[in-house]
Order: sequence, then C-alpha cells, then structure tokens
Amino acid sequence: MENTDLKNLENYESGVGAAEASVSEDDLRFMEVAFAEAKLAEEIDEVPIGACIVRGGEVIARAHNTRESSKCATHHAEILAIEEACRVLGGWRLPDTTLYVTLEPCAMCAGAIINARIPRVVFSANDIRFGAMGSLIDLSEIPFNHKPEVRRGVKIEEGKNLLTEYFRRKRKK
Ligand code: ZN
Repeated sequence: MENTDLKNLENYESGVGAAEASVSEDDLRFMEVAFAEAKLAEEIDEVPIGACIVRGGEVIARAHNTRESSKCATHHAEILAIEEACRVLGGWRLPDTTLYVTLEPCAMCAGAIINARIPRVVFSANDIRFGAMGSLIDLSEIPFNHKPEVRRGVKIEEGKNLLTEYFRRKRKK
C-alpha cells in the first residue's frame, strides 16, 4: 500500500458536488450490488471498490478491485467487470448497459468505459486524487467518438465511508 493512501482520508470528501436528490430505485438497487462487491474486496484486504454492469434490468457482470492479490495495476473493479461483460455479451461493445461503481473511475477505467461504448455510468464517491469523471478531469465530457452519460454521487455518503473507514482501520494496524 502506498503511504499516501493512508495519509489522505480526505481523498473522497470533496471534489465533484453531490448529485441532485432524485435517484431512481434501480440506481439505488444496483449500487448496492457494487457495494456488496466492494465488501468482498475488503474481505481479502483490498481497497474496497466494487462494480457491476447491468443490461435489461439484470446484472450481467460484477467484480471488485483485486490489485493487491493479483499484483496487477490494471485489476480495478471496472476493468474486471468490463472484461466479464464482454465475455457474457460475446463482443467488445457493451450496448444498452449501465456500469455502477462505488468510486469515481480513474483515467484507465474511464478510457475502458469509453472504448467499450458503455452508454451510462453511475458512481458513488468522488476520487480527488485519480478521478477522471469530474474530479481531476472529466473524460466523459471530451468529444471522443463515444460519450457516456454519467450520474455522480449516488449513495455518496456510503461510498465515502466505506473507503475512509477502511483506511482508518489500516492506519491503526
Ligand atoms: Zn480504475
């Protein structure tokens, strides 16, 4: 673990403002699936970040961060979920899907989302150190060939707390 991760408990506290009050039942429900994945990551002592991909009202892929256990820089929850969804749908394009993730996607994951043509992204906490969907840069606003719709701040308090509590516990050890 990088030392900076332990020092900066405020990483998720500011950045993009909280989303407007209205959140659909589906968005809340599927964000819970992403949180369940994040908790699986925490159980194996990974930073708790989870994601799922939904199509036609069904979860077609779900994954959590395994960067430490797989010793691989690219094994973020979103990348693993995208890989699974590509296998499920049998192609590199993921039309008519929504990706839910507990933390704002980084530049790599935002790039993968755009490359997979995922039409919609919903995330919870902001990441002011690496966030690439509004915090540091907003790749969803750049006129690439594909431009996902982004819903920010769904269950933002739960998203922030999951991460800050994790780092607080790590710091005590
Ligand atoms: Zn990422």
